[in-house]
Amino acid sequence: MKFTSPAQAETLAQVKTHPYQATSFYLDTDKSRQPLKAINAAYKGLLNQARLTLETRDLSREVKKSLLEDLEKISQFCTNRLNSWKAPGLAIFCCSARNLWQELELPHGPRNRLIQDFDFYTRPLSAILEKFKKLCAFLVNRREAFWYEIRMGEIRLLDSLTSDVPKKVKKGGFEGYESKRIERHIDALLLEHFKKAAQRTFEILKQNHFDWLFLGCDDQFYPQLEPLFHTYVKDRLKGRIKARPGTEASRVLQECLDLEDRLKREEEAGLVKAFVAELERGGRAVAGLADTLRKLNSHEIRHLLITHNFSKPGRVCPGCHGLFLNEEACPTCKVKTEPVADVVDEAIEIALNKNVPLTQINPPTRLEHYGNIGGFLKFKTPR
Ligand SMILES: [Zn+2]
Repeated sequence: MKFTSPAQAETLAQVKTHPYQATSFYLDTDKSRQPLKAINAAYKGLLNQARLTLETRDLSREVKKSLLEDLEKISQFCTNRLNSWKAPGLAIFCCSARNLWQELELPHGPRNRLIQDFDFYTRPLSAILEKFKKLCAFLVNRREAFWYEIRMGEIRLLDSLTSDVPKKVKKGGFEGYESKRIERHIDALLLEHFKKAAQRTFEILKQNHFDWLFLGCDDQFYPQLEPLFHTYVKDRLKGRIKARPGTEASRVLQECLDLEDRLKREEEAGLVKAFVAELERGGRAVAGLADTLRKLNSHEIRHLLITHNFSKPGRVCPGCHGLFLNEEACPTCKVKTEPVADVVDEAIEIALNKNVPLTQINPPTRLEHYGNIGGFLKFKTPR
């Protein structure tokens, strides 16, 4: 099943598996960024790690049996299905004792994770929902207007409008009073059509809470149309597209997705640029895993930046939950730290729990030259 709506995430979040536990599995299956061999190695690594963790956990025989069965089923699914799996991400939610199994095709590669806990772990689904903007494509010519909704890679026609505006009279020939009068009449009808379309655009944007608006119209109409937009519409207008009324929906979709991707990359590049500038002038920024974790432990991070799917093993303090790259003992609690398979994932959890803004940057990015992780700081660090 494709993951397309918040309702799917909410339903999963509400499932109760008590007294048994639930398995949540996320795999980055984006074959445009990595070979199948790497994807296979990643899922096997997750399953092995989960089996080891399960052995050490103090659980009843039935609960353990169900969790082990989950791992076995996920392993079989991956062996049989990953070869032909098309989506860039896979999520599986299961509880064998309760006979629950749900697989989802994700529109974006998630961080690789396997979590066995009391509930299904759905936070990455919310993160994907947030990542995808809700787009409106507004296509207009001198007679027609179309509005499409684009969400999570799917397109849907929302509304359309047709006005009876006749073709413009040809210039030249005799320029009599009558032809001037007709021309003015047509101009008035055209303006009326644009006014109606602009008003409808405002209503549609408000009703559906769109993030961005993309406009498809001829250059000659733009100066007439733009002043008719409400400020609310102008604020959301992010770009122009080549599609026009009559363009096939699949082409409208592709053009919008391409533009969305480009705009997001520009946004991310801008953020990284500001980060690097701050860092290089010795301002309020920190880079590299060890230093960033230290600043995260001391609540000094204002905004965390991470290269998408960067991961590293590390250590966690069982006392204060401080995160470390290498420290064998926690400098605060003086107790022995415990190894974790992915300390970056732990850092993301902490950021989410403490409401620290977090941006995962798609590679290639300059952030890779700065240790793949960093953050803007609340205060300036004394040098
Ligand atoms: Zn500690």
